[in-house]
Amino acid sequence: MLRPSLRAAATLSLLFVAGHAYTIDEDCGNDRDLVRTAADHAFALAANAVTELRKTPINPDIDHVVEQLFGYTAAQRPWGPRIEQKLGNLAPISTLDGSVDGATDVRIFCTTKRIEKRKDGRYYNKNTESVYQEDEISNRFAHCLELTPPTAAITFNPEGQASEIQICPWFMTQVRGFKFRDLTELRAGSLTLGALAKISLPVISSMAYTPIDMFQVFDKVILHELTHTTQAGDPKPAEDMQPNPYGWKNCKEWARKFVESKGDFDRPPDFKDPQNNSDSIALLCSAIELIGLGVRVNDDGSLNPPQSRKRDVVMYPVSWVA
Ligand SMILES: [Zn+2]
Repeated sequence: MLRPSLRAAATLSLLFVAGHAYTIDEDCGNDRDLVRTAADHAFALAANAVTELRKTPINPDIDHVVEQLFGYTAAQRPWGPRIEQKLGNLAPISTLDGSVDGATDVRIFCTTKRIEKRKDGRYYNKNTESVYQEDEISNRFAHCLELTPPTAAITFNPEGQASEIQICPWFMTQVRGFKFRDLTELRAGSLTLGALAKISLPVISSMAYTPIDMFQVFDKVILHELTHTTQAGDPKPAEDMQPNPYGWKNCKEWARKFVESKGDFDRPPDFKDPQNNSDSIALLCSAIELIGLGVRVNDDGSLNPPQSRKRDVVMYPVSWVA
C-alpha cells in the first residue's frame, strides 16, 4: 500500500502512473521480460474474470466452474462476490512501472539475493535491514531459499511496505525452459544430494494434478501470489486454506465441504468459503479465459480439446504457496 506519508512526495510521479504499480526487481535481470509477460497476463486473467463474473446473465459454462470450485453458482454464493472484490483490488496496480521505487504496491523478485539467514536462525532483508516475521515466512520460505521441496513462489506482506512476491530460484530455472539438472548454478556449495533428490522428483504430477492445474502454470502462480498481497485484501487477502489448498481436486473438495458445512453455526462459515482460497481463485480465472477461447473445462479438470504443453508447463508436483 502506498502510505499517506508518501503520497505528497510522490505526487509528481503519480500524475503519470495513476498512483500504484507493480514492479519487477532488477534482480530478475534477463528474466525481466519473461516475468513481465507472465505478470501482465496474470493481471489480465484477473480483469477478465471480474468482467465475466459481473455479467448478467453470466456465461453458463463459467457459472458451472464457479459451482465446481466454490460450491455455489455465482449468484448464490452465501458470502457474496468476494472473488470479484479481491481481483478488482488488483486492477489499480496492474501497470508495470519502476519509477515509483519504494512506493510500489507489489514487487516481484527472481532471486533471494536480498535475503540472508543469520546466526539467530531468522531471515533478514539486507536492503532494508528488516527481519521477516516468523509466521509470515513459515517453513516454506526456508524451502524456497534452500531449495528443498518444490515451492514455486511465496508472498510476504511486510508492514507498511510493498508486498514481495518471491519467485523461487529453481522455479525460475524451470520457467526458462531449462531442464533442472544442476542446482549448483543457483546456490553453489549449499546443496546436498538429499535436496537434489527431493527436487528432481519423477513425473508424478499428472496423477496429483489435472490438466487445468498445469496449464500456463507460471502466469497462474503469479496470479495466485497476487491474491495473497495486501493489495488484494477485502480487507483480508486470500490465503492457502489448510490442509490441501492447491490444485483442482483439492479445491473441489473445499467446495464440497463448504456446501456440507452450511448451517453449522459453531464454525465461522466464511472461513470455509473457498472464495478465500488463492488457488481456487487462480484456477477459476484460468478456466474463465479458456472458456472464452472455446475450450471446455471438464469436471475432472481435464480440458477439451486438450491443450498442448507449453514451455512454462512444469512437470514437477509444485506447491504454489503463500
Ligand atoms: Zn498461496
